[in-house]
Amino acid sequence: MRRRAQGRDALGRQGGLMGRDAMTGQSGLTVSDTMMQRGGAGADKRYIYLTWDDAPQRGTMSCAEVFIRHQVKATFFAVGMNIHNTEGREALDTIASAYPQLLLCNHGWSHGFHDHYKTYYSLPDSAIGDLMQNDSCFHFRQKIVRLPGSNSWVSNLENKGPQSTEPVREGLSRMGYRVIGWDVEWGLRDRNDRGRGAGPLDRGAEQLAREVERDLDQGKTNVAHSIVILSHDRFFSGAAAVDSLAQFIAILRQDPRNVFETIDHYPM
Ligand SMILES: [Zn+2]
Repeated sequence: MRRRAQGRDALGRQGGLMGRDAMTGQSGLTVSDTMMQRGGAGADKRYIYLTWDDAPQRGTMSCAEVFIRHQVKATFFAVGMNIHNTEGREALDTIASAYPQLLLCNHGWSHGFHDHYKTYYSLPDSAIGDLMQNDSCFHFRQKIVRLPGSNSWVSNLENKGPQSTEPVREGLSRMGYRVIGWDVEWGLRDRNDRGRGAGPLDRGAEQLAREVERDLDQGKTNVAHSIVILSHDRFFSGAAAVDSLAQFIAILRQDPRNVFETIDHYPM
């Protein structure tokens, strides 16, 4: 268990963390907190969660191959309606069977009624039904969801996001689901290209790696010592972007404190 970002510790310790971390009995510190203060094992680790959305699509297997080749853990959030052929189905099967290195999680069947997010979140029962439809198709290992088109978070410790997603967040929370948002997004330079997924990335591997290091150093992430990076498989359908992804991983790898993890290990 990693120490949480400032201001969230008290909430964390009253909530779900109690069951997962034995208490030391001193000032409410958990065993792992105390280890960190003493510089014990894992004290200086920083956890990097690569979370790639909308699989299967162009670029899904390119990303999976980079992660496998470089032996880094990563998470794909799957969209059922994006399966158009056996190739797509096989890509998801490859990811699902690569656990614990790769993890497949739920991003909803219809991607928010085909990107109609306002309607989607105004009909919470239908939205949750759409997520459950995806779940019954893939039988995801974990009750972990990324909401389409929304940076929202739900766990034992927090429930936050835009007002529009609140009914869906509440419903999922009652059903025991966690919702994962993101700290940093790796996108395309031209936002108009996002839908079709072609075009240069909005920043190179070195710049993004510097931002990740800075945000971790300055505690600017949702949970201290952890950073969730969002991108989309389709941005990596070209050779230049695939090279950037490999380079990004290689740069972060140079710091022995950095550990890549799947999102089921996120401290929530
Ligand atoms: Zn998406």
